Formats: sequence, C-alpha cells, structure tokens
Amino acid sequence: MRIIVAEDETRISAFIKKGLVAEGIQVILAQDGVSALAAALSEQADLMILDVGLPLLDGFSVLKKLRESGSDLPVIILTARDSAQDTIRGLEIGANDYMSKPFSFGELLARIRLRVSDGARETPSSKLQAGQLVLDVERRQAHYRGKVHDLSAREFSLLRVLCEHHGKVLSPVQLLEHVWELDFDPGSNVVNVYIRYLRQKLGAEAIETIRGMGYRLVT
Ligand code: CA
Repeated sequence: MRIIVAEDETRISAFIKKGLVAEGIQVILAQDGVSALAAALSEQADLMILDVGLPLLDGFSVLKKLRESGSDLPVIILTARDSAQDTIRGLEIGANDYMSKPFSFGELLARIRLRVSDGARETPSSKLQAGQLVLDVERRQAHYRGKVHDLSAREFSLLRVLCEHHGKVLSPVQLLEHVWELDFDPGSNVVNVYIRYLRQKLGAEAIETIRGMGYRLVT
C-alpha cells in the first residue's frame, strides 16, 4: 500500500509517517498543496491524507482539482478541531473521510484500512447518480432516460457539477469557477453555450433555467 501524506507541519507528518511505515505502508510526503496535487495525479497511490491548511494551494483546492481531473483517489482530510464547516466543505467537494486534529494514530489507521479495503476505487465512486441521470466517470457518458450519451470533457465537467449539486440552482459564475476555473471572462456566455449542448444531447427539459439565478438539474 502507498499513501500520500500532505501536511506542512513536520511534527505531524513525521508522526503519521512513522506509524504507517511501521505497518509496512510506503509513504510519499508532500509539504505544500502544489506538490500534493502533483503526487496525487502522478504517483500510483492508494490513498491521500490531506491537511486543509497547506501552503501554495490549500487542501480544498487540491481536492477540488483532483476530483475535477476525474481522479477517485480516496482522500482523508485533516481539519482543525471542531471546525464543522471545514469538514462539511471537504466532504461536499469529494473527501471520503476526515480526521479532526488532534487524532490518535490508531483511529487514522482504522479509517485508512476502511477506505482502502472497501473497494472505494472500484465501481461505486466511478458512477454518479442524481435522479434519472447516471454519470459514468470513466467512460465520460451520461445515462439518461434509457439512452447513453457520449460527452466532451467540458460537457461532462459541467454536467458533473450540476449532478453533484442536484436540486440546487448554480449561477453561471459558480459554474465558470467549477468547470473553467475562472480562465474565462465572467461576462462570457460560454456556460450558456455548453448548457445548450447538454440540452441538445439529453433533452431540453433535463436542465432548468431559473431566471436571474442560474441552472438546475431536473431530477
Ligand atoms: Ca497545516
């Protein structure tokens, strides 16, 4: 088993590393968010332990970029004690589990074993479902009302964000941030264009326009 430990406090990362190595687990250390993301995308790891407060790129941004790249690497986030908001946010953007500092190594190890052995990297996490819509992450396809639709990378990212927030209205600016990472002028109509592409594939009724607010996946 190989685990990425992304933590800038060397006292904590050394403590985790020592415990993992004693269990025969290989450890890849990352001390900032940029190297954590690079390791998660390039190394063949089984899991990442991700501190929320990291230099260069915070843990939430690392997690968000990782999930947007399509990776389903199990991630356990480390949050400050009693920071329920951080925990909720982390789980919303795709963390599999969390630990609040300070924590016991035994509890961390139990959670690692749970995440690595429950087959979290197999089928369940490669499919997302919202109502009648099922997204196949690996094949980049949408299954909707009995039909299968192949999607472009952007179409898929956009539909994925809508699917992950189904029932909620997302503004064009929120969608730009999630899917295009603000590379585009917020005044750009690129979101409308891609919503139209998705409607052409799935059917006009699949995505609802809420006037003056944004878009919602109909589930
Ligand atoms: Ca930190």
